[in-house]
Amino acid sequence: MSDIFERLLALSTSRVPRPEFRGELIPIEETVDGWYCLERTGAVVHVTSDGDAEQIAEARTAAALVGKLATVLPLATYFLGRYRNAEVCATCNGSGVIDTLPLELQDTIACECGGIGWRPKA
Ligand SMILES: [Zn+2]
Repeated sequence: MSDIFERLLALSTSRVPRPEFRGELIPIEETVDGWYCLERTGAVVHVTSDGDAEQIAEARTAAALVGKLATVLPLATYFLGRYRNAEVCATCNGSGVIDTLPLELQDTIACECGGIGWRPKA
């Protein structure tokens, strides 16, 4: 697992909110007060600019965030959980793209599944 994490680290930028986390977290998405990041363990955490880290325990949110990372770095699919209860995303019908959006926004606005086309059941 760590070899894959190291490869992802090398491919990602180091935009995490605190320098001490560089090399340990892969940034996924910026929020108003920090970043969603992937940890070496495969857990998704939210790290604030103050350095507070909180694990994202909700499976649908964590899978969507890893899925979003995988749309940029496909190797990140390694860190997607194996959910026995996954279902096709009702919003995009499995395509990963919200086809009711104007074409110019379809690459900008991510589906709630993160673009992977499925979600763990709630
Ligand atoms: Zn979707």
